[in-house]
Amino acid sequence: MGRVNTKKINIGNITIGGENKVLIQSMCNIKTSNINDVIKQINDCTFYDASLMRVSVLDFEDAKAIKEIVKNIKIPLVADIHFNYKLAIEAIKNGAKKIRINPGNLTNLDELKEIIKCAKEYKVAIRIGINSGSLNKKYVGNDEPEYLNLVNSALDYIKIFEENEFFDIVVSLKSSNPIETFKAYTYFDSISNYPLHIGVTESGFDEVGIIRSVSALSPLLLNGIGDTIRISLSGDPIKEVITCKRLLHDLGLYPNYPTIICCPTCGRCQVDVKPLAKKILDYMEQNNIYKTVAVMGCVVNGIGEGKNADIGLAGGNGFFILFKNGQEIKKVSQEEAFDELIKYL
Ligand code: SF4
Repeated sequence: MGRVNTKKINIGNITIGGENKVLIQSMCNIKTSNINDVIKQINDCTFYDASLMRVSVLDFEDAKAIKEIVKNIKIPLVADIHFNYKLAIEAIKNGAKKIRINPGNLTNLDELKEIIKCAKEYKVAIRIGINSGSLNKKYVGNDEPEYLNLVNSALDYIKIFEENEFFDIVVSLKSSNPIETFKAYTYFDSISNYPLHIGVTESGFDEVGIIRSVSALSPLLLNGIGDTIRISLSGDPIKEVITCKRLLHDLGLYPNYPTIICCPTCGRCQVDVKPLAKKILDYMEQNNIYKTVAVMGCVVNGIGEGKNADIGLAGGNGFFILFKNGQEIKKVSQEEAFDELIKYL
C-alpha cells in the first residue's frame, strides 16, 4: 500500500496516515501518577517535535492522572493498557486520544466490546500493538516464521474490531529482531491499508538500539511504509525524539533540520573535531537553525570536502579556518571557533 495509501486517522488535533508526514512518537519513562514530572517530560519532547507521547497506565491512579496531564500539554496523549480493560475506559474518559492495547493480554470479547464502545463515543483511536513477546496465544510455539505470527495475530484482532464497526485502528508489529520487524511490516502493508506505527521493540541503549532500530526502519521508510515512528532506546525519551528526527532528515522525510558534516579525523588532524562538531549540532538543534555546517580536521582536504556546507571550519595546527563555499573567510583560534561560526549562522 505504502504511506500515501494508508487510511487517515484523527488522533486529537493531529491526523496520521494518507499523505501526512511521518510523525514522531515517544514514551514517558516516569510513572504516570507523577503528574508534574510527566507533564515536563512531554513538553520537553514536544519542544523537540514529538507529535505523540505515550504513557503507561498501570492502575487507576495513573488513569486518573491523565485528566490533569492533558490540560497541560499540546500534543495528544496515548495510554498504554495491559490486562485490565477498565483502565482503558478510564484513560479514555480522562482524555487519552489513543489507546494502545495488546492482543496477548486483552482477549475477553465482552471486555473488548466495552473498550470499542467507549472509544467510539469519545472518538479515540486504538493501536493494536503486537510485540513478538506477546502474540495471540494460538500463534505461540508454532513452526511459522515470527513475522507471520505477528501479522496473523494482528489480523485476528483487527477482525474483532471490524465486526464491531470500529475502524480507527493503527497497527504496530514489533519484534526485537530487525529483520522480522521489517518483514512483518512489509507483508502487512501489502495486504492492509491501516496506518502503521513502526519500531523495533526492546532495541537496546545508545548506538546498540539506534543501529538495530535504524536497520529495520530505514528500508521501511524508504519503501513508503510507516505513518508514525518510535526509536525505542533505554533512557531519556528526548534522545529517542532527536534520533527519530535525524533519521527522518537523513531519509529526506524531515526537510527542515540542521545537518552536520564532520570528518572521521586522521593523522593529519591537529584539532579536537568531535566536541566542537557536537556543540555546534546541539546549538543548531536547540535553536532550529536549518543549515549545513562542516567541521573538518584539516585544511588540506577539509575545505574542498566541506564546500557543499553553508559554512565550515577546517583545522590547522591549534587553529581553525572558517570557510564558506570552499573559500577561506578567516583564521580563528580553537577557543574562538564556536562563537565565530555561530555569528555566521
Ligand atoms: S579532512 Fe583532513 S583530518 Fe579529516 S579525515 Fe580528511 S584528511 Fe583527515
